[in-house]
Amino acid sequence: MVIVMKPGAPEAAVKEVSRHLEGLGYILHTSRGVGRTLIGAVGLPEIDKAAVADSLRGHDWVEDVVLISKPYKFVSREYQARDTVVDVDGLPIGGPGVVVMAGPCTVESEEQVEAVAALVARAGATVLRGGAYKPSTSPYSFHGMGEPALRILRGAADRHGLKVVTEVMDVRRVEEVARFADILQIGTRNMQNYDLLQEVGQSGKPVLLKRGMSAKYEEWLLAAEYIATKGNPRILLCERGIRTFETATRNTLDLNAVPTVKGLSHLPMVVDPSHGTGRRELVAPMALAAVAAGADALIVEVHPDPDHAVKDGQQSQTPAQFSEMMVKVARVCEAIGRSLLRPASA
Ligand code: PEP
Ligand code: MN
Repeated sequence: MVIVMKPGAPEAAVKEVSRHLEGLGYILHTSRGVGRTLIGAVGLPEIDKAAVADSLRGHDWVEDVVLISKPYKFVSREYQARDTVVDVDGLPIGGPGVVVMAGPCTVESEEQVEAVAALVARAGATVLRGGAYKPSTSPYSFHGMGEPALRILRGAADRHGLKVVTEVMDVRRVEEVARFADILQIGTRNMQNYDLLQEVGQSGKPVLLKRGMSAKYEEWLLAAEYIATKGNPRILLCERGIRTFETATRNTLDLNAVPTVKGLSHLPMVVDPSHGTGRRELVAPMALAAVAAGADALIVEVHPDPDHAVKDGQQSQTPAQFSEMMVKVARVCEAIGRSLLRPASA
């Protein structure tokens, strides 16, 4: 259950409620958000919870008590029925507008990023993606340019009215990446890096949480819960394909996730058809399907010369493919009563 304290509840009241719950045997996770303290209480049998909730509802400083049957609490639909809209410094993700994030897999040079930023902004993307710190299956692969890449991304994004999303892989780098990025990306390989999840939770920045390549929805939502319990509700869930027996595509893009997870959670849903398919000719059809299925945002790899990309060239769209896809994305948005959110400068 989640105990929602009234805005401005004094610390003494929070302590009093906490002591009462601990005395009953609950384990508590207290989240001190802006203006409001939430106490997540887990551990007692379901049967006892209704009576405990009723007794707490009479407390002067308790606004509400929400009973939640799922193992994840703050990110669940039971906790919050309305959709969360994550405000990325003026760009809303999760509302009626659909957001497109696009850019190279990896930052290679200032010229490359400038060219991509200009073309994706012109085509209607609002967020620039690009890896500065890259996870790799092989230790011999390129691992990213690091801080210089962060500067390049920020500069190009600012010139073209875009936000920046980039991956952070290490708790020691959260502060540095947060200085340059608008959205912190947690990659598929780190979905269960619980220390990192808690650290980005503490940063207060919007977090794009990719689904682990073999994670069930429940495990993914529990990973999101790690971020939320640190007081950061600004979480975007990103479906990026899972490992299956099929080898014709790099991963199997699980679009079931979009309506299913939206039923389980109030968080916005992002879809990555680039890693989800691994093949550039499949990116556009799966992007359109994702929007039709209810995705709030797409994240797509685009490269000025994909055949010579340092990483993920086979799944990176050419500028022409991206522009063509965006025209169709806008049409699908319209067909389902939404709209494509374009950069202010477009
Ligand atoms: C990426 O976005 O380039 C990336 C490495 O993604 P994932 O973690 O989904 O493999
Ligand atoms: Mn990639």
